[in-house]
Amino acid sequence: MGLPNSDQNNSELETNMRTSQEQSLVDNEQAKLNSLFGAYPENERHLIFTQDGMEFIACGKPNPDHQSILIAGITAMEQRFEKDVITQAFKGVKIYLANGIASGGGEALPRVDTIILNAENMGMNVAQMEAIASEAGMYRVGDQSDVFGADADASEVGFVHELGHILEFRAHLDMGVGFQTLDSLKSPTWYGQQKPREDYAESWMFMVYGHSIDQDREAILQADLKKVAAANVSRL
Ligand SMILES: [Zn+2]
Repeated sequence: MGLPNSDQNNSELETNMRTSQEQSLVDNEQAKLNSLFGAYPENERHLIFTQDGMEFIACGKPNPDHQSILIAGITAMEQRFEKDVITQAFKGVKIYLANGIASGGGEALPRVDTIILNAENMGMNVAQMEAIASEAGMYRVGDQSDVFGADADASEVGFVHELGHILEFRAHLDMGVGFQTLDSLKSPTWYGQQKPREDYAESWMFMVYGHSIDQDREAILQADLKKVAAANVSRL
C-alpha cells in the first residue's frame, strides 16, 4: 500500500485543469460562432473571395467596398513580409463580416480559426474610430491617428489587428502569453498596455504597416511568424 506520488498527482491535476480550461475556451468560441450561424443561416452567408488561404464571407448582402478594404490589409501584410509567408501563417482562417455579432471592430476566435468583423464599422476611418472608442474608454485618441493618419481605414488596420490574435494563438496555443514578460508601458498604444494579448495584436498591426515598435516585440513577432508559417508548411 503506497502513498500516491503527490508531485505526479499535482502535475496531473494541473494538466487536467488546463485541459478543461482550454475546453471551455474552445466551447465559448464555438458558441459565438454558432450564434453567428443562428443569426445568419447558410443561405445568408456568401463567400465573397479567397486570398492567401483565407476565406472572406459576407453575412447578409455583400458590400463590394468591404472587399477592397480587406484586400488592402492583405496587400499591406504581403508587402511587409512575403505572400507565401502570409499564406502559410494564416491559411484556413475564415473571416465573417456580420452585423450585431462582434463588438467594436471585430473579434478573433482563434480556437475555431475564425475572425468576426463588425460589418457596420467597415470603412470607418481612424479618427472616427478613436472618437467613438475613446468615449467608451476603449482607446486613446492619437494612438492610431498620429501614426497611421486620421484618414487611414480603421477597419483595414483592425482586420490586421485581429490576425495578430490568430498569429499569437497559432504560435503559443494561447493568447496573452507571447508578450507576458515584456514591459507593458512599451506597447505602441494605450490599448495595448492594458493586456498582453492586445499588446501583441497592436504591435503586429504597427509592424505590418512599418511603424516602429520596440525590438523585443519585433523579435518575438518575427520569430512567431516564421514558426507558424513553417509549421503550416509541414502540415501540407
Ligand atoms: Zn484585439
